Amino acid sequence: MTGTFWNGEPCEARHVRVIVGKALRPTWWCANLEGTERLAIEVKQHGQVFFLDNADSSGWRKVTEGRGMPNFPHSSLPGDSTVVWPSEEESESLKSTAEMMEKMSNLMQRKIEECFRCGTTVKAMEKIGRCVYARPCGCRLWQGTVPGAWKSRKQMTF
Ligand SMILES: [Zn+2]
Repeated sequence: MTGTFWNGEPCEARHVRVIVGKALRPTWWCANLEGTERLAIEVKQHGQVFFLDNADSSGWRKVTEGRGMPNFPHSSLPGDSTVVWPSEEESESLKSTAEMMEKMSNLMQRKIEECFRCGTTVKAMEKIGRCVYARPCGCRLWQGTVPGAWKSRKQMTF
């Protein structure tokens, strides 16, 4: 993903669909949207992840044309909003390709630290229920356990 910016600096940004989380204040514009599904832009920069509403495409415009500068309007969504698309099935289908298997295997062995689903640098892995998730991007990596190569080092420095 090239050509997306926040505050004039390059950032990662992608189209997602989220379940809107809890607004920090009842007066927030999205307070009555809690629990509903919404198109959004997920922005990642300097280890921070946040969501811009994109129902009217303003989120995408802000990070492209607007270079994330204050003179372009945007509407933030709560940081605890949950990404529901791309779905697990959609991500799952990627797994069948040889390239994906290769990347997955390399990631397990920590030969690479790039998430094979979204390309974000993996800082840590977390097992929730039966599955392992990448942090900070939050992608579901695989069912099972955190590989030894990822347990040995404590890298939770974000
Ligand atoms: Zn990821």
